[in-house]
Amino acid sequence: MTRLAATAAILLTGAAVLLFQLVGCGRERAAAGEGGDRLLVVASIAPLADFVREVGGEHAEVEMLVAPGTSPHTFEPTPRQLELLSRAALLVLNGIGLEFWADDLVSAAQNPKLRAVRTADGLDIIRAGRGQGHQDVGNPHVWLDPICAIHQVEQIRDALIEVDPAEADVYHRNAEAYVGELRTLDAEIRGAVGTLSRREFVGQHAVWSYFARRYGLVEAGVIESTPGDEASPRELSELVGMMHDQNVTAIFVEPQLSQKAARIIAAETGAAIVELDPLGRPPDRGYLETMRANLRKMAHGLGQGEGP
Ligand SMILES: [Zn+2]
Repeated sequence: MTRLAATAAILLTGAAVLLFQLVGCGRERAAAGEGGDRLLVVASIAPLADFVREVGGEHAEVEMLVAPGTSPHTFEPTPRQLELLSRAALLVLNGIGLEFWADDLVSAAQNPKLRAVRTADGLDIIRAGRGQGHQDVGNPHVWLDPICAIHQVEQIRDALIEVDPAEADVYHRNAEAYVGELRTLDAEIRGAVGTLSRREFVGQHAVWSYFARRYGLVEAGVIESTPGDEASPRELSELVGMMHDQNVTAIFVEPQLSQKAARIIAAETGAAIVELDPLGRPPDRGYLETMRANLRKMAHGLGQGEGP
C-alpha cells in the first residue's frame, strides 16, 4: 500500500465512523420524537409548558426547565437541559425578567435554529415598585391572571405557526378551544370572588398581583420583597403591624418557597395560612386544575359566603 493509499484509507475509515455516528444520532432523534417529526419545544415554567401542550397537541414534544417543586427565581439549568435546547425548535419564555438565566442558556446552546418567544410581551406590566423586587423590570407573574394567560396562549400559537406553518390550522383550532376554557375559568373566578367576605391578603412574594388587579382582591403586602430572600425581623414586625391595622386575615404561601416566616406572622396575627400553587404540575395537574384548586382554597381562606 502506498502512503497516499494508506492516508486515504484512514480518511475513509474516519468518514465512515463519522457517517455512522451521524446516522446513529438521526435514529436517536427519531425515536425520542416518536416518529421524528414532532417539534421539540422547551418551556421555562409549568403553566407555559401546559399551554404549549394544549396548543401544540400531538405535533409538539414539550419539555420544561423549572422542575415541579422549584422556583424560577432560584433555578439553575442542568447539562441535559442545555442539550435539549441545542436541538429544540422553540423556547417558550414568560419574560419580564423571570428567566434572568435565559440569555446565557440560549447562547450556550449554540442552536442557530432555536427561536425564543417571550409570551408576556405586549401585556400591561405591573412595574417593580414597593415589595416587587424582580430584576427591577416589573412583576413577572402575569400567567396567574387568566386573561393575561390568553395573550400568552396566543403568542405560543403564533410562534408554533412560525416554526411549523404546515400545521397552522391545527394550532389555530387548538388555541381557540383552550382560550374558550380560559374564558370559562375567568367567569368562575369572577363568580367566586363576588361572594367573598374579605379581599385583603398578604402574599409570600408578589405572585398574585395580576390576579388581584383583575379580580379586585387587595395585596396588602408581601413577606419576601425579593423571592427566596428571607425577610428581616424589622420587615416582619412591620408586616405584622400593618396586618393588625388593616385586619388582614389571610397569608397566601407557595409550596416552592420556605414558609417559615409565614408561620411566624400567622402566630403573631392569627391570620390563616393558605397554600396556593402558582405553577402546578402538568400533565397531572395542569393550569386549569391548579387555578381551580387555588380558587377553592382562596375562597375558603377569605371567607366565602360568610358576609362582611
Ligand atoms: Zn416571583
